[in-house]
Parts: sequence; C-alpha cells; structure tokens
Amino acid sequence: MMKKHCLECREPISGRSDKKFCSDDCRSRHYHKREGPKISMIRGINYILKRNRTILSKFTQAGRRRISRDQLIELGFSFEYFTHFRKSSSGSMYRYCYDQGYLLKDNGMVYVKRDKE
Ligand SMILES: [Zn+2]
Repeated sequence: MMKKHCLECREPISGRSDKKFCSDDCRSRHYHKREGPKISMIRGINYILKRNRTILSKFTQAGRRRISRDQLIELGFSFEYFTHFRKSSSGSMYRYCYDQGYLLKDNGMVYVKRDKE
C-alpha cells in the first residue's frame, strides 16, 4: 500500500487513510494559503466601502447637501466602490455606500443624501 503524504508539508501520514494532512496546523496553513488572498481582497473592499460611508455620513449628518468632488477625494473617498444604485424621486441615479447616497455631477460637485429607510 502506498503511503500518503501531507498535502502541505509532504511528510508521510500515519493513521486513517482518508487524511490529507499530517496535522491541524498543516490543514489550516494549506487553506489559509488558498483562501488568504481572497479573504484579504474582500476585507479591503469592505474597508473602502465603510470608509466611504463614514465620510458621506459626516456631511449628511451635518445637513450638508453638496460637497466638491475634490474635497471628498482629499478625505480618502473612493468613487469606484459603492454598494448599489437607487433612483431619487427626481429621477437621478444615486450611488450608495450602504445608507449614504451620492450623485456626482459634471461640474465636479457631489450631491449627498442619507437613505431614510
Ligand atoms: Zn503536514
């Protein structure tokens, strides 16, 4: 019978024949290597979305309706990331970061609003 080897460290495995790893350490190392980059990518995007939301909410909480695009960028806002679209009552398509919406105008101004729901 062929000896099985650990998928992570290549050491021979003793015991049950359906084992793929010699130890719990090797198993978690193996899955972390595979899933690690995906997980950190998702974490990174979540972080950007939350930061966007925090930046917008500072203005909406203060009752502001308009900010310049440059001002948002200076604060670290990232226009590439948002959670969804929603049409306003006037028919404009707002982008949202969770409950905080914004509309980028051609003149470099950004209209912001908070979702009431
Ligand atoms: Zn191992």
